[in-house]
Formats: sequence, structure tokens, C-alpha cells
Amino acid sequence: MIQPFDGHAISPETTAFLGQTHRLLIGGEWVDGSGELVTRDPATGLVLARFQTGGAAEVDQAVTAARAAFEGPWGRMTVAERTAMLHKLAQVMDANATLLTELDVIDNGMPRFIAGLTTANCVEMVDYYAGAVMRIEGTTTAPPRHIAAETEALTYTLREPVGVAGQIVPWNVPLSTAILKLAPALAAGCTVVMKPSEETPLSVLALGQMVLDAGLPAGVVNIINGVGAEAGQALAEHPGVDKISFTGSTATGRRIVQAALGNLKKVSLELGGKSPVVVMPDADLSLAIPGVAMATFFLQGQNCMAGTRIFAHAAIHDELMEGLAAFAGGMTLGHGLDFATTQGPLISVAHTEKVMGYIDRAKADGLTLVAGGERLQRAGNFVKPTIFTGCDNSMPLMREEIFGPVMAVQKIETDDLDAIAALANDTPYGLSGSVWTRDLSTAHRMVKRIRAGHVSINCHGAVGTNIPFGGYGQSGWGREFGQEGLDAYLETKAVTARL
Ligand code: NDP
Repeated sequence: MIQPFDGHAISPETTAFLGQTHRLLIGGEWVDGSGELVTRDPATGLVLARFQTGGAAEVDQAVTAARAAFEGPWGRMTVAERTAMLHKLAQVMDANATLLTELDVIDNGMPRFIAGLTTANCVEMVDYYAGAVMRIEGTTTAPPRHIAAETEALTYTLREPVGVAGQIVPWNVPLSTAILKLAPALAAGCTVVMKPSEETPLSVLALGQMVLDAGLPAGVVNIINGVGAEAGQALAEHPGVDKISFTGSTATGRRIVQAALGNLKKVSLELGGKSPVVVMPDADLSLAIPGVAMATFFLQGQNCMAGTRIFAHAAIHDELMEGLAAFAGGMTLGHGLDFATTQGPLISVAHTEKVMGYIDRAKADGLTLVAGGERLQRAGNFVKPTIFTGCDNSMPLMREEIFGPVMAVQKIETDDLDAIAALANDTPYGLSGSVWTRDLSTAHRMVKRIRAGHVSINCHGAVGTNIPFGGYGQSGWGREFGQEGLDAYLETKAVTARL
């Protein structure tokens, strides 16, 4: 008999939240949807909650509400008031950190220590963008020559909000992805219609109530749960939406671009990755072994910046494999609520089957299995941390985003940085990467050669609130986080005055 949460306790506030009716947030009210779905605990397969869903009609109502708020109270608010509202939202989130953390643990499966960190980062991010509101600044520049020839003149620029933003959030880090879209949009003065993933709606719904509790005016934030191909597609197509921000697969990203063509809305895309990890002969293996392992296994590998293509120099390959195998074998798989858990379940049965398909194919191709390679025999979607070596860059294991705990290792014999970079860059993606070496010169020369938006030295995926994040190539368009994350929600208006 499977116990809810594997027998682990959840807080009274999470219990109370799960018992509520989960509706759509439109114009400051929780309203009934036109459909219903369930969300499950991926560690047990048990239903967590039913939630209502919407389609094109509800998206249309939400866009109307967001437009009214943009042209009404939110648009008229002073920057000081907007700053205060965002700080208040951060305070409300902080006061409800246990709820937000537990919801991502039980809905997504991530270990508790990771969910706790992401909740804290989300609070920090809302405060960061609250502080940025006051720093939205234009510039002054020389007036046009033909006007300056006749008279004194003044030319300056204003930064203005893009308008109504549609935001489509995936399931792999639900609260975090919601906040890194929501906070800069609100700071810029935009209003939002958000569509969470149907796999993980809960933390975003809780966030919706916190937006209301913080006192943001009705319609500033609207939340429409629903199937991606219906609610998500309707949002991306809607002529009343000025900008769409999407995180998810490259295939769906292409659909978003097509859908946005109608009114040529602005598009930001944060898509997939297949990030290279280069381990040089002089790497400090005491750092590299845990660092490379977690480059792949962090968040069960369900992580867009996961470093899953390892280029291990022959000089350290065997020692690295031995260390990685020990690390993978030592990971504790279990329910995310268990404090001992270091790796949780995958998001769904279908996704687990997809990941196991890659593993079975790699075995059939004769690759050397260093660790894992099978499901954990228990309820839930658990796949053991898996490492294959003997790979080469032409194989699906090295080319496709698996989004699971599967590492592919290629042994490299060369010290030539251009040759190594050619391998690392032989991918349509360009989101992240890392290089492991004690040599400062090698590190920076390698960083310069790797074609990716986010490259780390002796660590991997070093993201932070203030650090721009986004991809080269087919990993996306634009940047999130930091000042560039805010710029993505701002237009520039140039003004010239004859004086
Ligand atoms: P999708 O890209 O399909 O889903 C991401 C989000 O887009 C979800 O909110 C989804 O809604 C929504 N969506 C789906 N179809 C449409 C559409 N036609 N128009 C608008 N929105 C849509 O990813 P999947 O969940 O199917 O995962 C598949 C693969 O995508 C993973 O294996 C992984 O490789 C990659 N992925 C990458 C992520 C990243 O961070 N870069 C995040 C998630 C996935 P709904 O969930 O309701 O269908």
C-alpha cells in the first residue's frame, strides 16, 4: 500500500492549500474554469489535487483584465508605489516559504533542500526587481542634425513597459521560472497572464493568492491553467498580448514563434540545452567529481542547463569515471520531503519512459555503463543516476536533450583547445557549459571558445538573480535574470523637443 508522501509529514498550511478548490485567477478573482485536471506526486503516483483549467475563452478574459489593469491602476502607479508593492510581495512570499517549498517538492518531486533554496532565491529576486524599478532610466543624446542646425533641441529616451505579457512556465522548476518572468515584468510596469505547466500548477496558484494578499491591483497578474496546446497556444496567438515569454522545449518554442506572428508580438525563449563539460588533464578531481556529477544530476537532470555531455581528457578519464560512479552510487533516491534525499523522481510516467528509452538504446549500442542504467524498484518515477562512457558526438545520447539523470562521456586524447571546442560546440544548442582545470589561461581560453550564453570555470550552472541567463543557437532568444531580464519587458521611446 503506497502511503501519501511516502509517510512524510507536510505542514498544516500545505494540507489546507491542497484541500482548497483550485480555480483560475482572472481580474483579481478566483473564477471557475471550463475543464479539470489532476496533478500527482511523482514520487508516489498518488493524486495531490484537482485543478480547474481554461482554454481560449478564459485566456481572452484574462487578457482583457490584464489590459484594463495596464491602462488603469498599474499603469498609473508611481514607481515608488510599484517598488513598495513588489517588496510587499517578497515579504508575503517569505512568510509563506514553507508552503511554496513543500508545493514544489510534492508537485515536481525535487528534493527539499533544492526547493528551499529556490524559494529563497525567488524572494530575493522579487526584492531585486523591486529595487530595479527606481533604476529604470533613459539616456540623453545629441538631437538630429537637421533640427540642431535650425534651433536648440533636446533628445532623450524613455523606457516604457511593453504592455500585456503572456508567460508560459514549464514544470522543471515551477516557482522559480514563474518568478524570473513575473518579477521583471511587474517591475517594468507590465501586466501578466501566466500559464503554468499542467504537470505542476500548485506553487504558481499559491503565488497567485500571495499577489492578491500583497495588494497588487486586480488584473495585474492573471493565471490560466490549461493544456499547453490549448491555453498556451491561445495565449501565444492572442492579438491583445504584446509580448510572450516561454521556457520549455525547442519544439514548442518553434510553435510559440509561429503563434506570435499574427501581431508580431515580442518573443523571449529559454529553450533546451545539451551543455558541454570539459575536464582537462590538470583538473582538481576533488572538485570535478562532485561538480561534474551534479552538473548532470541536479534536479534529476530535468534542468535546461544540465551539463550532460562530458569531454573527459584521457589523462584523467579513468579516475574521473571511478569517482563519478562512486558519487552516483552514493546518491539517495527518495521522496523529496525526506531530508536525506539527494535525487527525487522524474516528473511523469511518460517522461520516465522517454528517459529509459535513451538508456536502453545506449545499452543496445554497446556503450559502457559506468553507473545506474535502470529504474528504482519502487512506486514513482525513479531512475538511478546513470553514466555511460565510450560515447561520441554523433550519438543520440550526446546530441539530444534527455532531461533526465543520464550522463554521456566522451574520452578526448587531444590537448588542442580548438579541437576540444569544436567537439563542445558540435550541437544546435548553446545554453551553458563548464571547463574544469587548474590553469587560469586554459580556463579563459576555453571559455572564449565555447559558444554558449552561460559558461562556468570549476563549477557548473552558476546562475544568480543578477546574472544574465539565456542561450546561443537553438537554446533561445534573449536573456532572463539581471538587468537584461528587465530590459526584455521595456520598450525604448526616443523623444526630440525643439527648444
Ligand atoms: P513543453 O515545451 O511542451 O512545455 C513547456 C510549457 O509549454 C508548458 O507550460 C506547456 O504546457 C506549454 N506548452 C506546450 N505546448 C504548447 C503550445 N503549443 N503553445 C503554448 N504553450 C505550450 O515541454 P514538455 O513538458 O512537453 O517537455 C518536453 C521536453 O521539453 C523535455 O523533455 C525537455 O527536454 C524540454 N523542456 C525544457 C525545459 C527548459 O527549461 N528549457 C523545461 C521543460 C521541458 P503543458 O505542460 O500544460 O502542456
